[in-house]
Amino acid sequence: MSMDYSLPRGTQDILPDEINYWNHVEQTAKHIFSLYNFNEIRTPIFESSNLFNRVISESDIVKKEMYTFTDKGNRELALRPEGTAPIARAFITNNLSRAPQHSKLFYKGPMFRYERPQAGRYRQFHQIGVESIGSDHPFSDAEVITMSYRLFTSLGLRNVKIYINSVGSDTCRPVIEARIKQFLASNLSQLSENLQEKFKNNPLKMLDSKDETLQTYLSGLPDMREALSQQSKDHFNFVISYLDHLNIPFEYKPTLVRGLDYYTETVFEVVSEDLGAQNSICGGGRYNNLIKNLGGPQTPAVGFAFGMERLIMLLKKQSIPIPKRPVLVYIAALGKEYQMECLNIAEELRNNMINVTIDYSKVDFNGHIKLAQKMLADYMIIFGEKEFESKQVSIKNLANRHQDDVPFAGITNYFQTILGDAHV
Ligand code: ATP
Ligand code: MG
Repeated sequence: MSMDYSLPRGTQDILPDEINYWNHVEQTAKHIFSLYNFNEIRTPIFESSNLFNRVISESDIVKKEMYTFTDKGNRELALRPEGTAPIARAFITNNLSRAPQHSKLFYKGPMFRYERPQAGRYRQFHQIGVESIGSDHPFSDAEVITMSYRLFTSLGLRNVKIYINSVGSDTCRPVIEARIKQFLASNLSQLSENLQEKFKNNPLKMLDSKDETLQTYLSGLPDMREALSQQSKDHFNFVISYLDHLNIPFEYKPTLVRGLDYYTETVFEVVSEDLGAQNSICGGGRYNNLIKNLGGPQTPAVGFAFGMERLIMLLKKQSIPIPKRPVLVYIAALGKEYQMECLNIAEELRNNMINVTIDYSKVDFNGHIKLAQKMLADYMIIFGEKEFESKQVSIKNLANRHQDDVPFAGITNYFQTILGDAHV
């Protein structure tokens, strides 16, 4: 194979065998989001680079990982690395603040980050996310957290953990940063240059560092809730009491700060110990200033996003069954002269919502049955000379080998009876 045509590094083809997992997760998510009256929004996969430069300039995503390009009209564009900024942009572009109710939106699609590819980390990956825009009520934070919990448990996942924290508002931020600095100051000289840099510019980001030396120092970090303003403290306590009220299991984690700059107040993360190094499935939080920072009206909002690839890895790791695809009927014509009649049978079954496959290259029983098994068909309709004479086809259940003779006119009814409503 020529190198020029190889799969781009950090990307994947999702083949038909795999797609059942994708459809199952997408359908489950969509179903659960509609239970909470969240509606789908689709935005372009590229945006003006400035959008991300403006709101996540401090994060590695913009500093190192963004796929940017100049188009033929000299516009600076970026393949979207995340979904929240584009949706905030769409909220402003389309004047959604004028909508009668606050905007409850969900999205799904590919995201792009120039990262070092490894298990659970790709350059094109896929997220599903929600954004609840227009309410600063702590109930909204609790609602999106509850929705993520309902989604992961409905999918059958076990051992998922929700961590939550508050990074406070703009006014608490300097207080929190001062606390962190004060706490780490005496050990500063033991830390890497990179961390000393962070200490100076963005001490909050030190909290989720994977550096082991720093982690040992941080293990003694006092409860950071003390550094929050009364208003932020109240907000966070309300979120916690709603979650308690709804019996959502979560854990307060004072070192949790998310990678994206725009978060205020509540932040949360869903992790699984079964995933190894890339253990974070879902991340989210409140972003009360993002829309204002983009030139829109002051609009509080809260949301989350989860990664499809990691979630599907986890479903497989935990051997969680996903719904089987619908029953497939294979029609075998034992001779070219019966192919037209088989086509009629196929179309009639399809009119009745039954999935049918038919192959015209094979005309002998052995060829057909091998192919039907390879395709994992559930039933085989056999139509040859005997069937033509008797005006009855043979229908073979490929799982248990049971076979019935069924008059031509009764084929649809035969399948409807044995399949019941299961196939629709
Ligand atoms: P991580 O700490 O693993 O880098 P993140 O903080 O960058 O995650 P977010 O930007 O919050 O993640 O995105 C939410 C989710 O998207 C993650 O929890 C993860 O499931 C998924 N995700 C993020 N980056 C990638 C990637 N490069 N490849 C696959 N999935 C990803
Ligand atoms: Mg990341």
